Amino acid sequence: MYNLSEIHKDGYNLEPILPIIHNTCDSCQNPLSLRKDDSYYQLLLRINSHKKDALPIMDEMRSLGINVIEFEPKNGIKDYNLLKNIVMNFNLTTNN
Ligand SMILES: [Zn+2]
Repeated sequence: MYNLSEIHKDGYNLEPILPIIHNTCDSCQNPLSLRKDDSYYQLLLRINSHKKDALPIMDEMRSLGINVIEFEPKNGIKDYNLLKNIVMNFNLTTNN
């Protein structure tokens, strides 16, 4: 999967993830195309779904004293090892 966008704002430093050859898949050499769900409208649907479905579950878990990891990969894939360490050391026990 590739990402053409580049963001350097509000603490985010996200570099684009580009193929070696422009518009060509590194694995199969086929031309790249946009996913059907890669649209502004679909993005809004995913954000609304997260707010409606995931956030209430996280709030409920917190109210039960269950630890919840909140992690923003502000440096994209460069934050992978940081997230991995947090998950590996994550303690499910309550913080109450
Ligand atoms: Zn491919």
